[in-house]
Amino acid sequence: MMLRIKRVPTVVSNYQKDETEETARRSSGCGKNCLRSCCIPGAKLPLYAFRKLNNIESEKVVLGIENKEPPVAFLDSLILGEVIPGEYGFVAQLNEGRHLKKRPTEFRVDKVLQPFDGNKFNFTKVGQEEVLFQFEASEDGEVQFYPSAPIDVENSPSVVAINVSPIEYGHVLLIPRILECLPQRIDRESFLLALYMTAEAGNPYFRLGYNSLGAFATINHLHFQAYYLAVPFPIEKAPTKKITTLNDEVIISELLNYPVRGLVFEGGNTLQAMSDTVSDACICLQENNIPYNVLISDCGKRIFLLPQCYAEKQALGEVSPELLDTQVNPAVWEISGHMVLKRRKDYDEASDENAWRLLAEVSLSDERFREVNALIFEVIASGEDGIEHAATSLPKEPDTKAESTEEESTITKTSHRAMVTASLNPKYS
Ligand SMILES: [Zn+2]
Repeated sequence: MMLRIKRVPTVVSNYQKDETEETARRSSGCGKNCLRSCCIPGAKLPLYAFRKLNNIESEKVVLGIENKEPPVAFLDSLILGEVIPGEYGFVAQLNEGRHLKKRPTEFRVDKVLQPFDGNKFNFTKVGQEEVLFQFEASEDGEVQFYPSAPIDVENSPSVVAINVSPIEYGHVLLIPRILECLPQRIDRESFLLALYMTAEAGNPYFRLGYNSLGAFATINHLHFQAYYLAVPFPIEKAPTKKITTLNDEVIISELLNYPVRGLVFEGGNTLQAMSDTVSDACICLQENNIPYNVLISDCGKRIFLLPQCYAEKQALGEVSPELLDTQVNPAVWEISGHMVLKRRKDYDEASDENAWRLLAEVSLSDERFREVNALIFEVIASGEDGIEHAATSLPKEPDTKAESTEEESTITKTSHRAMVTASLNPKYS
């Protein structure tokens, strides 16, 4: 079968423009019309105000009845790849990236939590023209779109931007509270915002993904990636086995017959309940320095959480040279079954078997997956008991500060194979 490629037009970002090409057209600001203090004063951007509904089901029904037209271009459907013939339906995309500038990885790949560094690339450096809209909850409960709205610097807006980063792909980015310059780490509020975005899109083919540091995030500035692909992902078709149902009706299952071990979250009385459960699990992983990817599918009704160890294996020299040579970075889309391939050869030879072989290297071992699940369920169970912060149930040190923040509180540290600190070149493209 002949595979065809549909290439995505290359948009040149502020960051990719040669400095020498820059002409400071504007009399004020840095000349790049960026999102920093040099260019923000007086700037206006579109604003999309979403309905803050609490129930995913009702949201979907409402959207269905109104047959609501997506207000802006980010909801346009774009087919990037072609489905590989085979049982699982992995998707192959060739992204040779010759036109893309390669930049060295700017942070360690062995630490899931790292502080924000304003000297490195971050999304405040992109041009305002790359921002599609500000994204916030509507005050009156109705969807509103304002083509030109002031930017409230004091109350940092979340924005949806075109993804023109030279080292990431996908279509749009959701950047929570962009001006706060949050590092790449999940918090409850940001995760709920991401869920609202998938619910707002109201299309099961609209997915939102998250890569932690160490799991092939390439920018340490909090962001989610989102795009449409009008085929089911293999991970979405994988069978699951239920582990438990929580008090708030969130059902947690584990993936079966899929190369990467992972948890699936579904149901929940409210969107908030679902969001809190998953974000607490994410916080648990990042506090334990376990890299992970998240896929939000089906309008926010199904969320996949996938701890991974590929970068760690790379550093330990445990990945076969054959797989390393593909230079594939197994981030959220790859793990979900959309393989972005760097070499023509791999694209031409794309098969379920090859995809499976790569993804099997990404997965935690069964034993390690059980250990990690135990950590996650400990945190979730402590929430189930009505204890807001797990730390309150742990033995306290005499001098423990009275208040512990949510992110500090979650987990009992357990010894596990620490991520190695060897220097490595993961060849981020
Ligand atoms: Zn500027």
